[in-house]
Amino acid sequence: MSFEGWVRDHNQGKKVSSLEYQVYEELAKKEGHKILQESIHLFNLHHIVCTHRYGHLQLGEIAVWIGATATHRDDAFKATRFVIDQIKCRLPIWKKEHYFEQKPEWVFCKDHHTHVHFHEKDYYQKQKNIVNQQSLFDAQVLVVGAGGLGCPLLQALTTAGVGRIDIVDHDIISISNIHRQPLYSPEVVGEKKVTVAQKKLAALNPFIHVQGHDLRLESKNVEKLILGKTLILDCTDNLETKYLLHDACFKLRIPLISASIYQFEGQIRTFIPGENSGCMRCLQDKTPEDSKLGNCNDFGVLGSAVGFLGNLQANEAILYLQNKQNNSIESTFYFDLKTLSQMRIKNFVKTNCLTCKGQVDLIVDDLEISVQDLYRRDAKMIDLRDQEDSIILDYINLNKMVVLYCHRGIRSKAIVKEMRARGYSHFYSLRGGADSMSHHRPIS
Ligand SMILES: [Zn+2]
Repeated sequence: MSFEGWVRDHNQGKKVSSLEYQVYEELAKKEGHKILQESIHLFNLHHIVCTHRYGHLQLGEIAVWIGATATHRDDAFKATRFVIDQIKCRLPIWKKEHYFEQKPEWVFCKDHHTHVHFHEKDYYQKQKNIVNQQSLFDAQVLVVGAGGLGCPLLQALTTAGVGRIDIVDHDIISISNIHRQPLYSPEVVGEKKVTVAQKKLAALNPFIHVQGHDLRLESKNVEKLILGKTLILDCTDNLETKYLLHDACFKLRIPLISASIYQFEGQIRTFIPGENSGCMRCLQDKTPEDSKLGNCNDFGVLGSAVGFLGNLQANEAILYLQNKQNNSIESTFYFDLKTLSQMRIKNFVKTNCLTCKGQVDLIVDDLEISVQDLYRRDAKMIDLRDQEDSIILDYINLNKMVVLYCHRGIRSKAIVKEMRARGYSHFYSLRGGADSMSHHRPIS
C-alpha cells in the first residue's frame, strides 16, 4: 500500500501555481520517526517508509510519499491515513501556497480533527458499559430499504458498531424524501440511495464495513442476499416485499425484525424461525395487497414518526444481537404517536403452520415491468390517473403488451392482477407508477 501526495493545481477554489514547504528539519525527523513507530505498533505493520520533501515544489511534483506493508491490506491503508494526519498536526513543516491570482499564503490544516486517526475503543467509549461491543462487531446484518425507516436505523446500527451492514435498495433520491431520510440532502437528489447511504455511513464509522446493493428485492435474489446473515431488518414500505422477505427468512431460518408505519401508527415485531413464536402467515395465509390500503394517494408521513420507529427497530436489533433476546419476539408492539399510547399483543401461533416449519414456496411475481425494461419493449402505455378502471376494456383485444400506470403503481397492479386472473396475459403494471418515470426520460 502506498500513498502519493502531489502538488495540486487548486485548493478550496483557489488556483495554485506552486507550493513552498519550510521545515525545522531536526525536530521533524525525530517526530516523524515517532509517528512511524506508533503506526507500526497500532496497525500491525511489517514495515513503513515516509518521505516528505521541502523547498519550492512545482505543480505535479510529489510532496509526500508513504509506503506501508502489512498482512491485511486494510491495516496498511489505515496506517497510511494515520501517518498523513499525524504529519499534518505534529511535524514542524509549514506550507505556503503560491497562487496565480493572489499573493502567496501560509496554509494551516483547519480540519485535521475530522480525519480518521482515532482509536476504535474511544469511539465506543460511552456505550461500553451497556453493550457487548464484540457481539455487535461480529454481526452481519442486511437492511432492506434505505428510506424513512432505513435511514435512522442504518445510522443507529452503523454508529453502534455492527461489523458488517449490507443495504438493499433500488430507489433514487428525490427531493420529497429528504424531510424524513436524514442520510440524504438536496445536493444528492437524483443519485442512488444505496450509493449515497454507503458513503455517508462509512464516513460516520470507519471501523465497520458497509456495502450497498442497488437491487430490487425479488424472489430470484432474496435467498442469496439473506444467506449467512445474522439478522435481517425489514424497512420496506410495501406488503409484497415484506411477505417475500418474511417467507424467505422462514425458509432459510434467519431472524427478522420487521417494522411498518402508517401516518402516526407504527408496529414492530421480531420473527425467529424455529422458536414457535409464530409468523405472519399464522394469521393470514394469503399475501394482502397494497391496494387494500388505499389507492395511489400519498398517505402522509413525518420524519419524527419514522425516525422513532426506525430507531426502535435498531434498538431491538442491538438487543437481539447481544444475547438472542429482545422485547418483540413473543408479542407485537403497536404505537400511536398521536396519543402516545402503545399496545402489546401476544403473537398468535397457528399449529402446523407450513411457513413456521420452513415449508415455503417463494411467490414469483411477473405482474410488473420496470421503467428500464420498458424502453426495450413495444408497449401501449395507459395512464390511469384521471381515468376510470373501465378504460382498459378498450385494450383487452390489443395484440401487444399493454402497460398500465397510476401514481405509484398500486392501483394499476391490482387491475393487472384481476385481468391476468381472467386470462388476459398481455397486461402489465408499471413498477413504481408515474413516480418512477420522473427520473427517467418521459414515455411518449
Ligand atoms: Zn406461521
